[in-house]
Amino acid sequence: MSRAYNFSAGPAALPEDVLRQAQAEMLEWGTARASVMEISHRGKDFIAMAEQAEADLRELLAVPSGYKVLFLQGGATQHFAQIPMNFARPEQTVDYILTGDWSEKAAQEAKTLAKVRIAASSADTNYDRIPARASWDLDPDAAYVHVTPNETIRGVEYHTIPEVGSVPLIGDISSTILSRPLDLSKYALVYAGAQKNIGPSGLVVMIIRDELLERCPKTIAKIFNYAEHAAQGSMLNTPNTWGWYLAGLVFQSLKRSGGIAAMAERNRAKAELIYGYIDGSNYYRNPVEVSARSRMNVPFTLPRAELDAAFLKESEAAGLLALKGHRAVGGMRASIYNAMPLEGVQTLVDFMDDFARRNG
Ligand code: PMP
Repeated sequence: MSRAYNFSAGPAALPEDVLRQAQAEMLEWGTARASVMEISHRGKDFIAMAEQAEADLRELLAVPSGYKVLFLQGGATQHFAQIPMNFARPEQTVDYILTGDWSEKAAQEAKTLAKVRIAASSADTNYDRIPARASWDLDPDAAYVHVTPNETIRGVEYHTIPEVGSVPLIGDISSTILSRPLDLSKYALVYAGAQKNIGPSGLVVMIIRDELLERCPKTIAKIFNYAEHAAQGSMLNTPNTWGWYLAGLVFQSLKRSGGIAAMAERNRAKAELIYGYIDGSNYYRNPVEVSARSRMNVPFTLPRAELDAAFLKESEAAGLLALKGHRAVGGMRASIYNAMPLEGVQTLVDFMDDFARRNG
C-alpha cells in the first residue's frame, strides 16, 4: 500500500514534506531531547518556534500592521459563538450573509447570543451562488457583518471581498486561507480552523484588527475574551502545541514552494482542469454558478445517484480517497486544497472519464 491522493474536505491532506519532517523530528525535536509535544510551551525553544510560525504566516499573508495573529483552540465552530460574545453589543444587531451550511451554522450559533439579521441569503436557490452585493440589506449600525468566503460543503466561493462600508467585516476563511492572496485590510477579523490548509484540527488561526480587540467586554470569562488571548500571546492557557508546530512546518513548506502567489496559480490550474472536464462532459455536473465556483471544494454529481456507490468503491481502489459528497448535498466532492498536486487532479479526471465511458 502507498499514500493515496486524498480529496478529504477536512481534516485534509498535508504536504508530504511536512509529514516527513514531523516524522523525523517526532522523538527528538531540535536540541530538546524530547518531542515537541512533550515540552513546555513557555520554554524558549517552543516560544522561538511559535514566534517564527507567526512571522512566517504574517509574511505569507502580508498581514498589515495593526493586526494581531492568534493561535487558538476550539475549532471554527467555537468561534461561531465566541465572535458574537466578544463583539455583539446588546443594543446592536449583527448581519450575516448566508451562502451555505457553514454560514447558516455561524448565524444559528450567534442567535443564542445576539440580535442576528440575515442581510442576504442564497438559500432559495439552494446555495448555488453568492447573492449580488447590491441585494444585501445591511444595517449601517450593525456590530459586524459576517461572511463565509468559501463554503466547504457547497463549493461556493467569493472571488472578491464585499465592500461593507465602516461596519467591521468578519470572515470564516477556514477552507480558503493560504490558497490565494487575501487583502486583509478589508477585514476586521478572519478566522480559520486549521484542518484544511494549515495543519491538524484543534487549532484555529485568527487575524484581528487591534481596534476590534478594544471592543471585547470585560464581563465575559477571560478564556473567551480575544483581547486576553492577544495580550498573552495566545498563551493564556496551554495552546495546541503540536498543532502550532505543524502549522509552522506548513508555513515553511509554503514559503519554499513559492508562497501564496505560486500556490494561487497552482490552485487556479487545478480548478480549471476539473471544472473544465466536468463542463465538457455530459455525464458529470457541478451545480454552482460559474462565477461563484470554489477553487478548493468541487462538488459534482453523476447522472444517476445509483452510480454513486460504484464510483466511490472504484475510485478508492484506484487510490483516490474521500470523494463522497457531504450528506447535505449528496453526490461527490473533490477537495483540492494546497497539498493536492495537479497530478492528483489529473488522475481524478482520468478516472472520472474512464468511469463515465464504462457506465454511460
Ligand atoms: N467553517 C467552515 C467553512 C468549515 O469548512 C468548517 C469545517 N469543515 C467549519 C467552519 C467548522 O470547523 P470545526 O469543525 O473546526 O469547528
